[in-house]
Amino acid sequence: MFRLFSLMLAMFAFMSCNQAQPGYEARAVSGPVLSLEGDTLEHVEKTKSEWKAELSPLAFKVLREKGTERAFTGEYWDNKKKGIYYCAGCGAPLFSSTTKYRSGTGWPSFYEPIITGNVKEENDTSYGMNRVEVVCARCDGHLGHVFPDGPEPTGLRYCLNSVSLKFEEKK
Ligand code: FE
Repeated sequence: MFRLFSLMLAMFAFMSCNQAQPGYEARAVSGPVLSLEGDTLEHVEKTKSEWKAELSPLAFKVLREKGTERAFTGEYWDNKKKGIYYCAGCGAPLFSSTTKYRSGTGWPSFYEPIITGNVKEENDTSYGMNRVEVVCARCDGHLGHVFPDGPEPTGLRYCLNSVSLKFEEKK
């Protein structure tokens, strides 16, 4: 019983957003930030106090200070509804429910952004790990990390914080 528990714990640790994965480097993503209608969205620049005034304390911590919400606590890790996930900071469309999958990590996970230029990748060496951070290209808000252990067709796992996203259902 204890062995099974240890194994499950180890699997969770392996799948978690905090696990470093060798062999994946941030890619340079080019192109404008676009709305779903194809209009260019202007870059959003705000001061720390402006962000603090409009975001919840947790959203500020995650989006602006690269924090991480606790697994299985966010609003969307188990959301199975159809729709679009927008940036909770600036409203840019980031991910679609059509690329969301069950990763078992307790964080919403996708295999591909909805529009390539809307999500930037940056190498992140914090906490002594080599990870690739994913950031909203419009407001530079921290979304989560991307790992090379996702499903086809991309093989990528965008492991995101629910609090960085705002879901809009599309029936
Ligand atoms: Fe944003």
